[in-house]
Amino acid sequence: MSLAEGRNACVVGAGFGGMALAIRLQAAGIATTVIEARDKPGGRAYFWQRDGFTFDAGPTVVTDPACLRELWELTGHDMDEDIELVPVSPFYRLSWPDGTHFDYSNDLEHLRREITRLDPADVQGYEAFQHYAAGVYEEGYVKLGSVPFLSFSSMIKAAPALAKYQAWRSVYSIVSKYIRNEKLREALSFHTLLVGGNPMKTSSIYALIHKLEMDGGVWWTRGGTNRLIAGMVRHFERLGGTMRLGDAVEQVETEGRRVTGVRTKSGWSGRFDAVASNGDIMHSYRDLLGASERGRKYARSLARKSFSPSLFVVHFGIEGTWPGIPHHSILFGPRYHGLLEDIYERGVLPADFSIYLHHPTVTDPSMAPEGMSTFYALIPVAHQGKLSLDWDKVGPQLARRVLDEVGRRLIPDIHDRVVTSFHYTPKDFSHDLNAHLGSAFSLEPVLTQSAWFRGHNRDDKLSNFYLVGAGTHPGAGIPGVVGSAKATAGLMIGDLS
Ligand SMILES: Cc1cc2nc3c(=O)[nH]c(=O)nc-3n(C[C@H](O)[C@H](O)[C@H](O)COP(=O)(O)OP(=O)(O)OC[C@H]3O[C@@H](n4cnc5c(N)ncnc54)[C@H](O)[C@@H]3O)c2cc1C
Repeated sequence: MSLAEGRNACVVGAGFGGMALAIRLQAAGIATTVIEARDKPGGRAYFWQRDGFTFDAGPTVVTDPACLRELWELTGHDMDEDIELVPVSPFYRLSWPDGTHFDYSNDLEHLRREITRLDPADVQGYEAFQHYAAGVYEEGYVKLGSVPFLSFSSMIKAAPALAKYQAWRSVYSIVSKYIRNEKLREALSFHTLLVGGNPMKTSSIYALIHKLEMDGGVWWTRGGTNRLIAGMVRHFERLGGTMRLGDAVEQVETEGRRVTGVRTKSGWSGRFDAVASNGDIMHSYRDLLGASERGRKYARSLARKSFSPSLFVVHFGIEGTWPGIPHHSILFGPRYHGLLEDIYERGVLPADFSIYLHHPTVTDPSMAPEGMSTFYALIPVAHQGKLSLDWDKVGPQLARRVLDEVGRRLIPDIHDRVVTSFHYTPKDFSHDLNAHLGSAFSLEPVLTQSAWFRGHNRDDKLSNFYLVGAGTHPGAGIPGVVGSAKATAGLMIGDLS
């Protein structure tokens, strides 16, 4: 029995981080209420059902399933009771406009053949890169991925490892140290984009994603990522937790240096021993804690930080099945460096783009009516602080251009096949998720905004206010926010005991 039993807590937001935290708290005997603004849980992992197609809004690549499994094992349950995970291979097919393609998986023999096909000289370099990735994975993920960085001294302790792995260098720079072929450099560095980072600027520590995928594989949840969230909710409720959907928290109430409870849009209010926010970090301080000096002050400091770009996503259901198009594809455009600069630095909408194409029906036909296919095509775009566009006007034109490109590369008569389609813009990220500047991944994952320099899992001044999710250590991505939940839960359970 936990010492924290008999205490209560509130988690604002039902994203992956919020749900993982809520499960950990409830499993420790803390009566936990999750309050979610939207009609469905999931946050970035929301979903829509239209004309018989299921469209997951966000995450599609599930890595490190062990970090999720742990949430069931805490109480002796088995994740397989609630969720069916299916392996995906190849992990990704990367292709370039000149017709070259590269299949990336953890079948090492096959991977070596793929590298040889692009550049035999890089096989040896790849082995050295693997060794590097294994080192940063051990230091950055296994040792530090789910511990809170509350003081600068915790950062000093990590310094030798950061120095050893030259963490000030970018992922692209480290990959280039080992690999000479430009296409292979792109293939081994693009992963940071999946957590909002520019491969040219994101710390080389993020090369750990390579090892994470190699060891843990890439998985799909049968029925979509939304089923993974549904399974987490089921498990949380089984443990006795309470979900409150469709009611945004408007204020986190404070008394001196403590929070006392929350008040929601519907007028509901509750008193809690502790409150954790899974909402956007700026929204949490500027809006939810806006009545307190602490909220206003920290929001001002956040306004000076750099946020990740946004995304433009075209969801489409089409007639026909496409066994030749793998589950995850990256269609690189003609430019890599220049395109990244347009998105991250210059803040312009480029004429060309690189597309991540999601094709779940090749693994899981249940995502579409029989004989049809579900897709989404995603492109990173600058956030609203850098690029101010009338998305209601630009959106439909851009959606057409994105589909044109998918048509040119893979599905020639795409427009004739569309049964249903819609798109999601930076404006939607702002509106639906209270995402600052419409950022898709919160604070940009650069070294100067990582670990202690990121949002702290427990607020420095309000002793029972906590954060969980992409804005806090270690950062975005399912394993990242589930790791942040472990760090935050450790603090909350300790503080409430
Ligand atoms: C399109 C896309 C694709 C991605 N693909 C992948 C992938 O393949 N693999 C991967 O690992 N990661 C991926 N990511 C990243 C990953 O999805 C996110 O980093 C992660 O899901 C964020 O989780 P979170 O815990 O920070 O919460 P969020 O998902 O941000 O959820 C926060 C929740 O808080 C709620 N909320 C906000 N304000 C309030 C309020 N005032 N009151 C009540 N509720 C509130 C919101 O409605 C939301 O439900 C992707 C992200 C996007 C956008």
